[in-house]
Amino acid sequence: MENIFNYINGVLQAPVSNQFLENINPATGEVYSLCADSDERDVAQAYEAAEAAFPIWSEMPTNDRSKILLKIAHLIAEKNDELALAESIDQGKPLWLAKHGEIPRAQSNIHFFATAIEHFASEAHAMGNHAINYTLRTPIGIVGCISPWNLPLYLFTWKIAPALAAGNCVVAKPSEITPMTAYLFSKICIEAGLPKGVLNIVHGLGPKVGSAIVAHEKITAISFTGGTKTGAEIARIAAPMFKKLSLELGGKNPNIIFADCDFEKTVKESVRASFTNQGEICLCGSRIYIERSIYEQYKTAFVAQVASLKIGDPLQDDTKVGAIVSKLHFDKVLSYIALAKEEGGAILTGGKSFNPGGNCSNGFFIEPTVIEGLGHLCRTNQEEIFGPVVTLQPFDTEEEVLAMANSTQYGLACTVFTENLSKAHRVAGKIKSGIVWVNCWLLRDLRTPFGGVKQSGVGREGGWEALRFFTETKNVCVKI
Ligand code: NDP
Repeated sequence: MENIFNYINGVLQAPVSNQFLENINPATGEVYSLCADSDERDVAQAYEAAEAAFPIWSEMPTNDRSKILLKIAHLIAEKNDELALAESIDQGKPLWLAKHGEIPRAQSNIHFFATAIEHFASEAHAMGNHAINYTLRTPIGIVGCISPWNLPLYLFTWKIAPALAAGNCVVAKPSEITPMTAYLFSKICIEAGLPKGVLNIVHGLGPKVGSAIVAHEKITAISFTGGTKTGAEIARIAAPMFKKLSLELGGKNPNIIFADCDFEKTVKESVRASFTNQGEICLCGSRIYIERSIYEQYKTAFVAQVASLKIGDPLQDDTKVGAIVSKLHFDKVLSYIALAKEEGGAILTGGKSFNPGGNCSNGFFIEPTVIEGLGHLCRTNQEEIFGPVVTLQPFDTEEEVLAMANSTQYGLACTVFTENLSKAHRVAGKIKSGIVWVNCWLLRDLRTPFGGVKQSGVGREGGWEALRFFTETKNVCVKI
């Protein structure tokens, strides 16, 4: 059985405790590797390595930093199939999704920031003939990056790429539930010749390793993606230390379908927006609002497509819905389906666990579930479930659907389906979320700002926003 080691000071090593956690394949329910159970002593070592590496990395010519990162990107592409298989086994997602979506995106994340940094410039403000101001954007120092289990390598690289490109050294923690691709990534960094200590990956539990990174007095910026509750805990510790914080948190995204949509395309895209990666994407639409005049027609078509999605072994090519990431999360999702029934919801399809048989008899599978008959303020429609569960609700007017869509504590993403351009712009302007997709979902340009409002987060990732986050800004004013 493979041991997942920490990557500290350029070396793969066991945690100081020499303790390991069981890493489970969610499709089989079996332990298949052991993950370092690190603690604050490993974080302290990682910090020291990063601190020693910082002068070399931050002062390296941008073009040289860029070349090393491009080599890493190249190696990810070369090892795409190996990484995709590892991601699928570790997380439960269909192999084809990892192979064609997530691992290529992890490669793009590194490639994008490796090249973006060469174009990153700052402003100058002339005050007539009296003075000139110019802005310096320099690396912060040692930064912490903490990422979740749903899109493991994709979200891990989305943070560390801009952090490293900007010249920082990093102490990073992937989720202990899905550590495998971050471990393989550390081997890639060694192969690419990343100088030792520039990136340090410490595996282990959030309350031990994650909180030690957040509490470390010399790690002065934290980029976190995960649940809103964890984000609040991180902010509670980091705010009194005046750390720079980027928090990408939960969502409960509305999917708004107007009667004038392109019906066939809308049904197909909203199935994808609901159930990709078993609904375990912070951007998945879980509250589907449908204009009343097409409600029955949409419901029939949507439910038929959802019921035909093949659930089962993530390694099979025709599987559309893989395993839920862990037993704990599986139980949580099922408890929400039970809650929906208690709240008066009617299950239109799905609603229970699923046993694919064979190798996967002990895996954590849940049928994609569609529920109707619930009010927009009930818990099922207000709390993040983060699984293959969506609700359908009819609406009559634009004002009504906007009020319902904006009624949760979250504000991450929204999708709007209509062929009326004015309506699309109007609704997009009034939705309280950081991202709005019109007639599409998860169509991403890495230059665009990414993040949420309300309890979906603070700050933005992506493009210049990420490079600004990972640099310190200084204005210099020179009198002429
Ligand atoms: P968690 O908040 O449980 O965990 C996220 C990361 O934080 C993990 O590495 C976790 O470690 C770590 N962590 C846990 N507790 C602490 C702590 N006290 N201090 C520091 N770090 C800690 O989220 P999940 O992994 O369950 O991910 C699902 C959540 O992530 C959903 O709410 C989803 O919406 C959100 N998400 C948001 C995205 C966005 O861009 N806005 C994108 C993707 C997901 P460990 O795994 O060991 O607990």
